[in-house]
Amino acid sequence: MGEQAQKTLRLVLVPFPYQGHISPMLQLGAALHSKGFSITIAHTICNSPNSQNHPNFSFLRLSDGLSDTDIESRGLAANLLAINDNCKESFQWSLEQLIMEDRKTISCVISDELMYFAEDVANNLKILSIILRTTSAITSLARSFLLKLVEGGHVPLQGFASDELVARLPLLRFKDLPCPLTENFKSFAVIVARAYNKRTCSAIIWNTINCLEQSTLDQIQKESQVRIFAIGPMHKITPSISSSLIKEDRSCISWLDKQPHNSVVYVSISGSIASLYEKEVTEMAWGLANSKQAFLWAIRPGSIRGSDWIELLPNGFQDAVGDKGCIVSWAPQKEVLAHPAVGGFWSHCGWNSTLESLAQGVPMICKPCFGDQRVNARYASHVWKVGLELEEVERGEIARVVRRLILCEEGKEIRARAKKLKQKIDVSTRKGGSSYDSLNQLANFILSL
Ligand code: UDP
Repeated sequence: MGEQAQKTLRLVLVPFPYQGHISPMLQLGAALHSKGFSITIAHTICNSPNSQNHPNFSFLRLSDGLSDTDIESRGLAANLLAINDNCKESFQWSLEQLIMEDRKTISCVISDELMYFAEDVANNLKILSIILRTTSAITSLARSFLLKLVEGGHVPLQGFASDELVARLPLLRFKDLPCPLTENFKSFAVIVARAYNKRTCSAIIWNTINCLEQSTLDQIQKESQVRIFAIGPMHKITPSISSSLIKEDRSCISWLDKQPHNSVVYVSISGSIASLYEKEVTEMAWGLANSKQAFLWAIRPGSIRGSDWIELLPNGFQDAVGDKGCIVSWAPQKEVLAHPAVGGFWSHCGWNSTLESLAQGVPMICKPCFGDQRVNARYASHVWKVGLELEEVERGEIARVVRRLILCEEGKEIRARAKKLKQKIDVSTRKGGSSYDSLNQLANFILSL
């Protein structure tokens, strides 16, 4: 079928309304648009993407029943369950309207794995569905394993702090399992069960790359009834699009321009969700100052508990670091990681941040908070060996790890490995590479449905 025919085919994409999920879904939309499909984004009212940044897409607003404060104040799990309960009716109604009014055929609903209501609606309307998994592939095996433990009544798990290796998950220790932030294993079990069990989709798209996760992807494909398409890193396979929910502060780029190559540690350890205690921030601040290395620190407003932004940074810290430090509220992260001055990324290891770092060949300091970040951190440091693990948020330990990465021979070796991995990732996204081919196969697959 030619491109003309594809233009009459509409794909409805349903992102989960958090930054780490919206970005890959919009990137996927751009990739499939470049293959000739019409793209509609069905989004919640909370955290809605800015439609002006995406003139090629059309948008459907779903009533999510959440107030502005809900999304901030309630936990992720509570929001997720509420969104799935509240949006179903609105989505079904919107699709029915679209089918009546539109001359294009809706060929498929592609929804985030956590927006399972969308798959139910697609089934009701006899539209095929595909899910997008925005985590690493190994995370899904780890979550399934954890779910079995939870279902077997093995919680609370004292062993969750243990260094013991999990037999069936290569190189993962019990303390690397993707546990939720709180001990609320009940909602975790409901969510993971819905995300992984009894899916009726026709295929699964994964924001990962064969060169990172070949054996895990092979294992998942072997056990899966449906096809898997690994087309990551999505930010590399798509024309660049702006998907940030928070305004980026680009002033840090001119500061970076003044720094020597590979000299700056970029610090962003709360991503778009996690938050830090004042005590941790104090240790971070003095650890960075004591390392005597230049740093760019992205501190999301509200991410330090008990303050709006950086009011709780320790007294004297900013004077002590002077021009060696630059603090912004939200960095243009991909641009920062591509900057030659950046010699390392101290990250919470959210999957997008991990992929963005790997794709730029930037070595990492890994300090996960919760969930899949723990798995990603372990893989970055011990499987791909492109990062150092930070065991404890303590000033002495921080200063040591920063200096090991930026100044020592060990850091040079890690950087060299990261650069090699970047080259492999580059190859994957170019013509003939695994992710490039997988995207084409996905487009053909959708056409064949
Ligand atoms: N990000 C950004 N500027 C910042 C911090 C984060 O643009 O100052 C982006 C980052 O590039 C990534 C996303 O926010 O794409 C965070 O997603 P990730 O999966 O790493 O973490 P999460 O927020 O889901 O924990």
